[in-house]
Amino acid sequence: MVRDYKSPGSNARQRTLQRIREEHGRRLVGELNAALQFADQRREVLDLPDGAPPPDGVYLEVELAPGVGPTTLERKRERTRQGAVTVTANGARRIALFVPDDTRDVFDAVFRDYAFTEVEDGEKIPKKSRVEPVEHVRTARLQTFWRDDPDALPDDPQAEMWWALWCFRDRVERVDDLAQRLGLTVGDDDTRLRFPEVIVLPVHGRRAVIELLLFSTGGIAEIRRATDTPAVFTDELHGISGVLKATEDLGSRNIAAHARLDGPNRLIAGEHVIEAKRIVLAPGSSPIVPEQWRAFGDRIITSDTLFEQKDLPRRIGVVGLGAIGVEIAQALARLGIEVYGFDGADRIAGVSDERIAQVAQDLLAQEFAIHLGAQVELAEADDGIEMRWDGGNVVVDKVIASVGRRPNLKGLGLDTLGVPLDDKGMPEVDSNTMRIGDTTIFLAGDANGQRPLLHEGADDGHIAGLNATSENPIHLSRRIPLSVVFSDPQIASVGQRAGELNPRTILTGEVSFARQGRARTMQENYGLLRLYAARENGRLLGAEMVAPAAEHMGHLLALAIGQKLTVHDLLRMPFYHPTLEEGLRTALRMIARELPPCSISDLAGCGPIGVEALE
Ligand SMILES: Cc1cc2nc3c(=O)[nH]c(=O)nc-3n(C[C@H](O)[C@H](O)[C@H](O)COP(=O)(O)OP(=O)(O)OC[C@H]3O[C@@H](n4cnc5c(N)ncnc54)[C@H](O)[C@@H]3O)c2cc1C
Repeated sequence: MVRDYKSPGSNARQRTLQRIREEHGRRLVGELNAALQFADQRREVLDLPDGAPPPDGVYLEVELAPGVGPTTLERKRERTRQGAVTVTANGARRIALFVPDDTRDVFDAVFRDYAFTEVEDGEKIPKKSRVEPVEHVRTARLQTFWRDDPDALPDDPQAEMWWALWCFRDRVERVDDLAQRLGLTVGDDDTRLRFPEVIVLPVHGRRAVIELLLFSTGGIAEIRRATDTPAVFTDELHGISGVLKATEDLGSRNIAAHARLDGPNRLIAGEHVIEAKRIVLAPGSSPIVPEQWRAFGDRIITSDTLFEQKDLPRRIGVVGLGAIGVEIAQALARLGIEVYGFDGADRIAGVSDERIAQVAQDLLAQEFAIHLGAQVELAEADDGIEMRWDGGNVVVDKVIASVGRRPNLKGLGLDTLGVPLDDKGMPEVDSNTMRIGDTTIFLAGDANGQRPLLHEGADDGHIAGLNATSENPIHLSRRIPLSVVFSDPQIASVGQRAGELNPRTILTGEVSFARQGRARTMQENYGLLRLYAARENGRLLGAEMVAPAAEHMGHLLALAIGQKLTVHDLLRMPFYHPTLEEGLRTALRMIARELPPCSISDLAGCGPIGVEALE
């Protein structure tokens, strides 16, 4: 069956963009207010850190009121404070800022412009929010703004650094121009990341001058501290660097070469031949790209190549709406791209519970077009790639193939082991030992096709390593299944999924977050959670959900399932008000009503009092 959801069309897309902008503006204004309050509390006592070099500039406090012109109120003594914004009772904006001497004339010009240039509605507040001094910002917020090590943040306004600036496209010229006048270095074209709405620019210079740039240009949406290399100015290497170090520590035993088995005790890696008593293989997986799509060259993107794109087109098709496809499709839609999502199955993100799948679809279809039960074919078109399916066609600029990943078994030499391989070349692997049959070889991680998730892959490695260094097999039982799709809202499953359970032997409880108290106060009141418990004893077996903060609910439920808790055991826990967990309690109570009642002296039997806000 082909189910079509509303196409994004320009109106829906505009609404999405509008919403993102509004959310962004709200967030910046909220952050600004928090920073101002904090800065004001500390107004008289702030000092530059001990040992900071005397800055080559002055601290100014200037009052600005549109149409009136800048009034320099006070020349603060050195080492007093570095910058903040307050709004006076008559609505004027009072700004304290460290101004390096050599940028003074630009600074004055900027203030004059501020007072006498027409600006768009609502532009001023967000753009001024960056005048707050770094040392006034709470650590939690610093971690949001600055993804690098917060300890490494420069206190010194004269410290030189790279920053990455998110800048609305229509403001780039202003940023370039002012940066040049301020003597800052801005990364050239090759180093910029382009999105439909914003461009990310690497900018290098003294912190105070960059703050001045941020303050002056407007339209800069957000900042991230950059690494030293403008071409790599996101923080993507942080997670990986620890892994790289671990392998580097192997010294000469770290061989960078393609490896293949040559029988059960021999590995050939480039020019090296390694004889080993036991061997662990963990070659991972690669995205599947259907053969006939290869003719479209680099217009077919995968999750491996998406993050290398320097520019993103206006229209993208996403084929395969599993976890990865859904995450990517929503993210691209939120960047303002027209996204068309397809899946041959009739449910998205691997959800097995029909009701959860439906709610997830309905929510995501508000942001991008979803076509389920659709077999897509691609054809060359005049202005792009035509995507055809039973029920329609659309032309896009690029297509993301997210139709699954294939274990990297080709050329690995598994055929030299003498064990049976299935039609995909996969041997039988014991998930409790990771051993291939009764061989001396262990196959861990995505490559065994069992649980392609990071924490499961790490467990595979642990089990394989233990067994590879042990004379006797060690069988480890596996953890409670848990998976999270990082869409918004998140989609999670824990324990046994609905599709794995016999409907006759289970009881199901559910809660909608549409009217749940905490979800409403968070303005994230959408989604559904369903719990499955054994009919015979009320023991919790699993859950599926599309819900706010599903990742946390999933962990809590994994704990409960792992501890073999019953619905009544869980209802004995405290549920704080107002929390999303109160919603979980609603679902638990629904199941409890179907179970034999617990003792009258047991608080697990305490039912709802019928006030919606407390559920
Ligand atoms: C887009 C995306 C998002 C994801 N998001 C999440 C998530 O949010 N949470 C989560 O838990 N999991 C997530 N995953 C899954 C997770 O990344 C994988 O489960 C995990 O990386 C698997 O680790 P691995 O070591 O088995 O394989 P890999 O990380 O793929 O490593 C395999 C390594 O082996 C090397 N190799 C392959 N063949 C050979 C050979 N013959 N000789 C020498 N070297 C070889 C490869 O070059 C590679 O470096 C995501 C995956 C993708 C693609």
